[in-house]
Amino acid sequence: MKTITVSSSQREEMIDITADVQRYIGDGDGICLLFIQHTTCGLTVNENADPDVQSDMLGFLQRLIPQYEPNFKHFEHNSDAHIKSSLVGSSVTVPFANGKLCLGQWQGIYLCEFDGPRERKVLVSAVADCRNTGGSVAPEPRT
Ligand code: ZN
Repeated sequence: MKTITVSSSQREEMIDITADVQRYIGDGDGICLLFIQHTTCGLTVNENADPDVQSDMLGFLQRLIPQYEPNFKHFEHNSDAHIKSSLVGSSVTVPFANGKLCLGQWQGIYLCEFDGPRERKVLVSAVADCRNTGGSVAPEPRT
């Protein structure tokens, strides 16, 4: 398990962490799981070619879930960020092959900040495919 530290600079932004994740996976094939232990940001995979995609996503979520909705009761006044975090999700899973993330040509991995600026931690666990590395399968539990 490793940790990527990400510093956001705005209340809401999408930060491309693909290169950071790529550095943490080893050689061979397997699955890379990313998870955040925060309740006001999220992780997603989406287009990394046109930055308008990210601003459109953030803009739509802002119109859909305004920060100051009159029925919100949460004392921190960041219920919008909590809702957006749950909608986007707190984890992504990406396979890798020959030590390279198997992302599509236009895909990147993003940390979605909804209540910045803050320092965020992304947990990274890269699990090698045992069939390709000669590793062993976990033993059956004793009954
Ligand atoms: Zn809160």
